[in-house]
Amino acid sequence: MSSAADILARLGPAADDLGRAHAEELARLDETAAARRALALLGDSGLCAWMVPADFGGADASALVGSDTLSVRAAVVLRRGLAYRSAMLDVMLVMQGLGSYAIANAVDRALAQELLRAVAAGRVCAAFALTEPGAGSSLTDIALRARQVAGGWRLSGHKTFISNAGIADVYTVLARTGDEPDNLTMFCVRAPTRGLRCERFEVLGPHPIGDVYFEEVEVSDGARLGAVGAGLGLALSVLARLRTSVAAAAVGFGRRAFDESRRHLLERKQFGKPLATFQALGFDIAEMDTRLRAAELLVDEAATVVDGGGAGTLEVARAKLFATETAGWVCDRAVQHLGGLGVKRGQVVEALYRDVRALRIYEGSSEVQKLILAKELFRQAK
Ligand SMILES: Cc1cc2nc3c(=O)[nH]c(=O)nc-3n(C[C@H](O)[C@H](O)[C@H](O)COP(=O)(O)OP(=O)(O)OC[C@H]3O[C@@H](n4cnc5c(N)ncnc54)[C@H](O)[C@@H]3O)c2cc1C
Repeated sequence: MSSAADILARLGPAADDLGRAHAEELARLDETAAARRALALLGDSGLCAWMVPADFGGADASALVGSDTLSVRAAVVLRRGLAYRSAMLDVMLVMQGLGSYAIANAVDRALAQELLRAVAAGRVCAAFALTEPGAGSSLTDIALRARQVAGGWRLSGHKTFISNAGIADVYTVLARTGDEPDNLTMFCVRAPTRGLRCERFEVLGPHPIGDVYFEEVEVSDGARLGAVGAGLGLALSVLARLRTSVAAAAVGFGRRAFDESRRHLLERKQFGKPLATFQALGFDIAEMDTRLRAAELLVDEAATVVDGGGAGTLEVARAKLFATETAGWVCDRAVQHLGGLGVKRGQVVEALYRDVRALRIYEGSSEVQKLILAKELFRQAK
């Protein structure tokens, strides 16, 4: 059995190698083709398996966590490495975890095993459907309704901003099963299926995303994930497991921007000397590195706490807030350092500037992380 250090030391280079070999190829493909190709690459390389617990066909992470869960430290190392090279590889990896993690709770145990094994191999593409036009940060406003019928459930409503919409083979969906605000239940819905329709739209970065419409979509009771009324807790536990990895992706984007910036400042001459010799720009480089290092340490702390079985309420919120805000600032400075080239399509920092923006919004915005931190910090003082 490999030690935790061996596993983590192996995963970083594996992610980097995959990204280095395929980032340019993926960037040339249209979004759907790139997403499918990225997933195939992640499946074939064995990296997808780290998004699924070992009990359900995922990678052996026993040196890092229990066999019924996935390792946050592994996810962090992978996302840091993939985001450094390719936003598409990064998003396709994490969606396998986000979109499938709740499936381990399926009432039909055989269905859970079948689906999760296929997700781990990259043969089934997963999506996580919480957000609605009227319910973003506030999930208790979810309106998509699941009504019990003979042998199962019928789902009707509208989800929006769903990553992998139209590409996914399985959607894990948070639906309303009662009138009380938190009477929500999760289901898994396989695609294609009658009544399920997707409409794609574009966001700033390369990211397959869209609306998903449910028109009387029928699922069996075996496709219910967990107890009726326990869906909000389940959905939040999925987010809690993977939120630290958003911070890790931010660090990956930020480190790449830093490296591009440093290289440019050393190579580019103005006023007869390299830009790196201008103190104002050197101070920027110093601050970019320091802030990124602080973000890396917060991410590692959060991942270690959660892998160790802790809730990590403060650690995870701090890491998500600080790393995503920092990476946004670092990518902005990198654009500035490259001058006109910084905003020219096809330049690495121009793409990073777009890639990094959504990370401050999804899986709990920066403001939501501050709400979590403030609530917990005041609670601890009482
Ligand atoms: C690229 C991308 C991918 C996504 N993928 C998925 C996905 O796969 N599945 C999914 O379900 N969703 C997904 N989302 C949706 C995402 O989770 C939501 O956008 C996010 O939860 C915020 O919800 P909202 O957009 O409705 O903003 P709102 O909740 O309307 O918030 C708008 C602004 O108000 C702030 N705000 C809200 N409440 C408060 C408060 N109490 N105090 C202070 N400020 C507040 C927010 O921080 C934000 O700045 C994705 C979004 C993006 C951009």
